[in-house]
Parts: sequence; C-alpha cells; structure tokens
Amino acid sequence: MSHNAYITEETVEGADEGPLAGRTVAVKDNISTEGVRTTCGSAMLADYVPPYDATVVERLLDAGATIPGKTNMDEFGMGTTTETSAFGPTENPAAPGRVPGGSSGGSAAAVAAGEADLALGSDTGGSIRCPAAFCGVVGIKPTYGLVSRYGLVAYANSLEQIGPIAPTVEAAAELLEVIAGPDDRDATTRDARENGTDYEFAAAADGDVDGLDVGVPTDLVDGADEGVVETFRDALDDLESRGAEIHEVEIPSVCHAVEAYYVIAMGEASSNLARFDGVRYGVSGGFEGNWNESFARAREEGFGEEVKRRILLGTYALSAGYHDKYYKKAQDARACIKQEFDEALSEADVLASPTMSVPPMEMGESLSDPMTMYLADANTTPVNLANLPAISVPAGETEDGLPVGMQLVGPAFGEKAIIRAGSALA
Ligand code: GLN
Repeated sequence: MSHNAYITEETVEGADEGPLAGRTVAVKDNISTEGVRTTCGSAMLADYVPPYDATVVERLLDAGATIPGKTNMDEFGMGTTTETSAFGPTENPAAPGRVPGGSSGGSAAAVAAGEADLALGSDTGGSIRCPAAFCGVVGIKPTYGLVSRYGLVAYANSLEQIGPIAPTVEAAAELLEVIAGPDDRDATTRDARENGTDYEFAAAADGDVDGLDVGVPTDLVDGADEGVVETFRDALDDLESRGAEIHEVEIPSVCHAVEAYYVIAMGEASSNLARFDGVRYGVSGGFEGNWNESFARAREEGFGEEVKRRILLGTYALSAGYHDKYYKKAQDARACIKQEFDEALSEADVLASPTMSVPPMEMGESLSDPMTMYLADANTTPVNLANLPAISVPAGETEDGLPVGMQLVGPAFGEKAIIRAGSALA
C-alpha cells in the first residue's frame, strides 16, 4: 500500500463474534503472530515466523478482530521516525513528505490512512504516543503492568507496554478493554481491580471534564516549538471552556529524563538483543571453526546502524567500572522523576503537555543526527520512567497544517481519567 505502513500483508481472521467483530486491527511487527512472520523491522528477523501468538494477539482474535497484517517500525523499536526500519521508511498520511513518527509509525499511518480500523503499537519511550501525535490519531501507553508483554519482542522490558492506536479516544479505549488484564505468562502484569479501578475504559470516554483538575508541567512546555505550544494552548482553552480547571505544576527532574531513559533503554537492549546470534535467533553467520566469528558475522550483517550503536553504548554503560557512573545514576534519576510525578498528580487529576515538542520532521532529515532524534523524546520518556499511563490526542494543527498531539498523563491505573479528559478533545 501507498505509505509503506505494512511490512507483511497477511490476513488472520478472528472469532465470528465479539466486541471487535467486523473490525480490522493492524499489529506492530514486534508482536508475535503464530505462522505470520514477525521481523521487528530488522533484516536479522526477515524470515522469522513465530510458533505462537502473543497474549494480546490471542485476545484480539478471541474478540473477533481481523488482523490485516504486520506494521512497519523502527528496527527493534529503536527510533522516533520509522526510518531505521530495514524495510524502508513509512510516509505520514497526514503530512506528506514527513515522517509518521516512531517507532510504531506503520501502525499510526495504517489508522490515519484508513488501511486499518485500529492498531496495536508498543511504547518504550514514546513509540505509541509520538506516531499518534504526528499522524493526527489517538494512542494510549498503558500503566506498566496493565497489558501483557508475553510475545512482545523485548527492547527495554522495564519500560515498555503494548497499547492501542485508533481514530478516536472511544475506539482506543474499546481496544484497550480487549487487551488489558493480568496474564499468567507475564509476571509483571497486575489486575486493575486490585488497584482500585476496573476495565470499563470505553464508558469513561464521555467527554465530561467539568471540574477536572488539569496540571500543566511547565518543564514540558518551555522550550517546545512555538507553533506546537500555540496549538497546545488553544486545546487547553478548549478544555477550560468545558469546565476543566487548569494550573501549572513543576516536575524539575524531567530535564534528566532523556539521558536516564537512554542509559536504561540501551542497557536493557544490549542484554535483550544478545539472543540474536544466528544460532538461537536470527540470520546464520555460517560456521568456519570459530563460534565468536560466526556470532559477530550474524550481528554485523543482521543489525542496522542504530541498533549496533545502542548495543555498544548499552554494553559500555553496564560494564564493570562504569556501572555506578551511568546505570546506577540513571536508576536514581528514574526514582526521582517517579516521585515528582506522584507529587504533581497529588495536586491534579491529570497532567497535560504537548506530546512531542516538535512537529513531524521531513523524511531523511534526522537519520544522520541521532542526538537530535533522542532529544525529541523529551516529553514522552519521563512517563515510561515513572511507569504511568498516558494518552496522546489530536490537539489541532500548526499554521502549516502539521498535526500536534496533546499528552495527558494519569496516576498508575488511572487510564479512565486520561480517557475521560482526552475524549473531550477527540
Ligand atoms: N524513540 C525512543 C527510542 O528510540 C522510543 C522508542 C520506543 O518507544 N520504542 O528508544
């Protein structure tokens, strides 16, 4: 199809009846589908066909959904533009010539272009919210532990969650209802009912923000692109006119979020990606009498540049002698960010900021400058570090017609609050 949203177009039919009967749900290509190849956007897994379904895929099919295919993504989820995919970039249907965001760019583009009714993405540091914002659709990163990661190919397992991408908040909430809930095969899942809530997410999309207390973390607004801030402020005014109360809050330690996030994510990635050695998983490096050479060849050929960079940096940060200097410091920053979010959320029902501090980049603009690409994640990564739920909803467009997303962050297992607030806008 035209935007290169899919890596593999292969239809899997679900049950005849169920809450998703008659609807198509595209699945990001790092989520395992039995019998349908799952590449993670990498040449390493170009021929990998999983022998089992991820828990979320089982739940989709039981709910009657049809899967139209597997969507394009940055290689192993590492990127913010979908340009690190070994299968070529995806184009943004809402902003021609521009990137769809990433890493779940294929999923957001498929929904924005009407090539799927709904989609699943995964979000380690913004990979659902960023493409949702850039493509003008809705995306939810659930509380860590709400959705099973069984069958998700791990990038940074302490940070990531699978979540829905949809044209409206209500549709995203319906998909979240289907995939959420504890799973015996993922010990990090939690039952929302034991955390003082339930799974009636779609019913929460009632647009009622009367009396809702919205905190705006100034640290996530200052420094953002002017056109983005203007659009964001207009959307805040809209919430206010519907009865929400807006006030500023401070989360000063978010200025360390990007550096802490990348140390932790790369550290976990260097360990999680060790299995791709051409023997356990991945393209074979051949064998000429020396296993080290064989592993090295498989990884040299199978991985792209960004993945190699992250494995090297992650291995370095975790190595003896540097562990305290980088990894431990990053974990301290993570604890601090988490605590400040909890404090801010004790003074507000939800926190609002622009999802991305910049509008969608032009295609080809950011690949050669990894640092600028990492900094684009300033507003999304803190939420993963704090394990909290967040939604990105369309806030409007800049004067040049580029989509802008509003991010709403809630307390742990406070999905209903962010769904309610978001539904007032989309
Ligand atoms: N852009 C971030 C990264 O490259 C987030 C990616 C993600 O959430 N998978 O790590």
